[in-house]
Amino acid sequence: MKNALVCGAGGFIGSHLVARLKREGFWVRGVDLKFPEFTETLADDFVIADLREVENCRDIIDRRFDEVYQLAADMGGAGYIFTGANDADIMHNSATINLNILDTCKKRNIKRIFYSSSACMYPDYNQTDPSAPVTREDSAYPANPDSEYGWEKLFSERLYLAYNRNFAMQTRVARYHNIFGPQGTWTDGKEKAPAAVCRKVAEARSGGAIELWGDGEQTRSFLYIDECLEGTLRLTRSTFAGPVNIGSEEMVSINQLAKLVMEIAGKRLAIKHIPGPLGVRGRNSHNQLIQKMLDWKPSQSLRKGLEKLYPWIEEQVSATRGSNSHARPAAAAFKPFTGVAAERSNAS
Ligand code: NAD
Repeated sequence: MKNALVCGAGGFIGSHLVARLKREGFWVRGVDLKFPEFTETLADDFVIADLREVENCRDIIDRRFDEVYQLAADMGGAGYIFTGANDADIMHNSATINLNILDTCKKRNIKRIFYSSSACMYPDYNQTDPSAPVTREDSAYPANPDSEYGWEKLFSERLYLAYNRNFAMQTRVARYHNIFGPQGTWTDGKEKAPAAVCRKVAEARSGGAIELWGDGEQTRSFLYIDECLEGTLRLTRSTFAGPVNIGSEEMVSINQLAKLVMEIAGKRLAIKHIPGPLGVRGRNSHNQLIQKMLDWKPSQSLRKGLEKLYPWIEEQVSATRGSNSHARPAAAAFKPFTGVAAERSNAS
């Protein structure tokens, strides 16, 4: 029986990945600071541990795993990574995890390691036109990500590729573009646009209004979790190191995303635009390289994925309705941060 280690197995993508690997017959160890929030883990062994501590990494990586998936990171949606308030934590925590995991794997002679980088590492200056953003893999340099989160991803993807070159490790690097689906964060300030929009629509009364950050004309593409996992496994088991985009090419504005969710929900709502953290003006996945190297690219429509996400969010909203237990970021009280990250995102 093959075995795999999933770091970040208590998170959104990690918990789905554990389930997928179990379906394939793997013995799976998961590790995270927390158990998955919305489901029981399917891992054979789940360790609660802080991967910033190298001793913990040594204890957890106690055998020669066939596949290691490194998804653990200090991350969140725009409300977490673009305010500037979390920059030091984001850089320090995620870089430390990556340094520890990679070096411990090397010492155990583990070869095959997947690393989840992000489209946030692409330069700000190529993403100012919402109708034609550039995210070809070879457009990464000269580097100028719009957040410290993106800079850390860029550093770490280079780290994984350096271990590949210098120590003959089979590291694989993907640049994920906005992954979404059920069982992801939907309300604690770290949620991404699809979950946030679904929550706002689910909470609104028909005929009411929802609030969107900015003018809603910023563009993005969103990839459903099942397709993300398919791409991840194909890349990990291929001979191609990457970095390569794993994302959808179906670009929409945030206003269009909101209208699509309203259609699915069967609700007519007004949109009120308010100040909030935004990130780059436009972003879309560019899938030529993945198609060429893996003979595959994601194909499922955004609508199909949202049709699975919306009912799940509606269920969460119904379950918490009447209680004030879920905290939300105070968007209306948002004050632009005057530091480096905000200057970059405001420039976009
Ligand atoms: P997530 O926040 O749900 O999962 C990350 C997990 O890492 C969390 O469960 C967290 O507790 C864990 N973690 C953080 N610090 C840790 C530590 N010190 N020790 C152990 N565990 C720790 O995020 P996700 O959406 O599942 O993303 C997984 C990976 O994919 C991340 O590396 C993220 O940067 C990357 N990524 C995700 C997206 C997306 O749209 N979801 C896009 C681009 C890149």
